[in-house]
Amino acid sequence: MAFLPVCEPLLDGNELKYVTEAVSGGWISSSGKYVAAFENAFAAYCGVKHGIAVCNGTVALHLALTELKIGPGDEVIIPDFTMIASALAVCYVGAKPVFVDADPLTWNIDPGQIEAKITAKTKAIMAVHIFGTVCEMDALQAVADRHGLIVLEDAAEAHGAEYKGRKAGALSSIAAFSFFANKNLTTGEGGMVVTNDDSLADACRYHRNMCFPLDAPRTYLHQDIGFNYRMSNLHAAIGLAQTERADHYRDLRIGHGRLYRQLLSQIPGLDLQADQASGRSVFWMNGLSVTPRYGRTRQELIEHLKSHEIDTRLFFNGMHRQPALRDYGCECSDAYPESDRLADTGFYLPSGSGLKTTDIEGICDIIARFARA
Ligand SMILES: *Cc1c(COP(=O)(O)O)cnc(C)c1O
Repeated sequence: MAFLPVCEPLLDGNELKYVTEAVSGGWISSSGKYVAAFENAFAAYCGVKHGIAVCNGTVALHLALTELKIGPGDEVIIPDFTMIASALAVCYVGAKPVFVDADPLTWNIDPGQIEAKITAKTKAIMAVHIFGTVCEMDALQAVADRHGLIVLEDAAEAHGAEYKGRKAGALSSIAAFSFFANKNLTTGEGGMVVTNDDSLADACRYHRNMCFPLDAPRTYLHQDIGFNYRMSNLHAAIGLAQTERADHYRDLRIGHGRLYRQLLSQIPGLDLQADQASGRSVFWMNGLSVTPRYGRTRQELIEHLKSHEIDTRLFFNGMHRQPALRDYGCECSDAYPESDRLADTGFYLPSGSGLKTTDIEGICDIIARFARA
């Protein structure tokens, strides 16, 4: 088998055509026409009113938290089992991330454990749709409503994922997407905030561009501290082309995810992420957790796959294990057994949109034959 990377972008639509057009027209900054076109197309795809393109997913989260007016003295509930960016964005606004353990089946934040973490300082719950599987949003919203909290989404891994017929990004007050090269839709580096709220959208546009006034003539006097989080026209050109084929890329990922599950679930001792009943995962990454029943350790399996030119990546370590967050003052001594289990036993298999059915069958066959159950 040829080397199979964990993830490769698939850029087989109008990407090159649009980028070429942007370059040959000289419109390469954020002023070009593709930025608004991409924002409109992607917001429409998610079923929300506004999209605000930015230069990556982490700053999209920072902008969202900024416009929700979350700041020093506030606490934001986030899953312990997530990528570090979810927590970093909370730190950027000066608030404190508070961690909740993962649900053992869906690997998303466990709604039943949130209430115990709420204090008088809690302002929001960040729903992170891990590996493209949406959180149990009704349960999160119910907790939020009981305590007067805002729900926002880190939808960086969940382009096109659905919950009760609505798409990720349209399931809360404001959401952040990433278009990093390994995400289901990509611009290389990039991000977007999406929201139905007109004033939150305006605030995002204002802060994104150093607080230049949105409508008034430019006086070069700035009333507020802003950021430069703009996306370039070149990135947006790729993003528009990707969005045109969003359903196609989504369906590829879903097909791969289902095939992996069908084949891997026949092998004893492998634990897979479950989709929640009301949702439709887009299987951003196909991960598995190796249990003792498999008869080989995670490391043995990873090395065996490597010897067959199959690339893998370890799952992230939970937030309570992060020295940076402990030093920042986060509560890291609580127990997070599910997050620890996933971090210690989990890894991703090749998951890019360009995988072939025969690749997946070959990978699963190698894993099945290596079992010593
Ligand atoms: C990728 C990712 C981000 C950050 O996106 P960048 O574009 O890399 O900044 C945030 N949250 C989650 C859950 C992610 O997977």
